[in-house]
Amino acid sequence: MDKRDQQVHQQFSDYGRNAREWMRKCVLLLPEIERRQIWRKARCGSIFEYAAKLAGMSRATVEDGLRVMKKAEEFPALKAVVESRGVNRVRPIVAIVTKDTEEFWAEKARQMSRHTLETYVQNYRSESRTGPANQSVKLTMDLPLEMVEKLKAMKAAGTWEELMGKLLNGAPAIAQEALESVSTSSRHIPARIGRHVTERTGGLCAYPSCSREATSLHHTQRWGLEKVHDPARLHGLCDGHERLAHLGLIENEEAMPQEWRVRAQPDLTTDKRFIDQFVALYRPT
Ligand SMILES: [Zn+2]
Repeated sequence: MDKRDQQVHQQFSDYGRNAREWMRKCVLLLPEIERRQIWRKARCGSIFEYAAKLAGMSRATVEDGLRVMKKAEEFPALKAVVESRGVNRVRPIVAIVTKDTEEFWAEKARQMSRHTLETYVQNYRSESRTGPANQSVKLTMDLPLEMVEKLKAMKAAGTWEELMGKLLNGAPAIAQEALESVSTSSRHIPARIGRHVTERTGGLCAYPSCSREATSLHHTQRWGLEKVHDPARLHGLCDGHERLAHLGLIENEEAMPQEWRVRAQPDLTTDKRFIDQFVALYRPT
């Protein structure tokens, strides 16, 4: 971008931010407009017509705004978040919030972007239903005899579950060629380690229930603490799970991914917190 490009870009971003903020303020007024039937007094056929004419708001925005605001009115802690951050922030939690959990969810909503919050809510709900990887299902399959013999040899004295776990997590000795970890003062991950880690999950996020594309390689022990690129503790993660990791909300983070689950609160006693707080400083939520 040249200088003029940057100027125009900056101006557009500023106006856009303001437009969003004003739209958020409009949404906050919707419940009162509905309650007082102000749209009728302003000679409009409906609140939708009123909001479209005066603020260019779509019907979907009005419906959604009213629905989320109605929920927020029941929960003062959520209402405070809506007032400061807008309805988008709390949308992922309106279906699960209760009187007992409203403070908990309000804190999460203040702390996370909408996308990260969605990821967190999804894991939180499914894991509290089934627990981490403790539900088992019987699986039958047809395999060539030769392959079965090989699998039996690999399993040796272990259990089938252990073998599958190793295969899924790319235990180096079995699924992939072993790769040594690299100690270096460079943050840059050596290409062969990056490839190895990415191939282990077929380019997808390593979080067990997640099928989103991995967008970054995450050092579960935090690179800054050890200055080591260790393939066993490097995992491809999607944006949402990478954010959750840096919020300290993934339990057993340095174990195999099948042992991961989301935590309710970060562990404040680990050195990783310093690194994570540093990361948080440099990016908006
Ligand atoms: Zn993910």
